[in-house]
Amino acid sequence: MKIIYNNLIPFKGFTAINLFGVIFARRGNSLPPHTINHEKIHTAQMRELGYIGFYILYFVEWVYHRIFHTRIAYRALSFEREAYKHQSNYDYLKTRKPFAQWRRK
Ligand SMILES: [Zn+2]
Repeated sequence: MKIIYNNLIPFKGFTAINLFGVIFARRGNSLPPHTINHEKIHTAQMRELGYIGFYILYFVEWVYHRIFHTRIAYRALSFEREAYKHQSNYDYLKTRKPFAQWRRK
């Protein structure tokens, strides 16, 4: 997975952002393995949704959770729930089922 360390992306206060399968991280940070794995899971989600589909649905879910739920919207997103749940399992992507973010198990 390609990681580009720089001074611009993401905005200050954020550690890393995954843009179309490339991680951008603030210079001076070194990303821990579980964070890289977390982003790899997002890349798998992106691929099966044609990248743009991922960003559209991510945004739609985020708005939905902002409006209807009191939990922190970001953590409630199906994409994030899957990534956080499995970020420490480094073999997860070998057995991940398609669209696992929307599966019950
Ligand atoms: Zn995430």
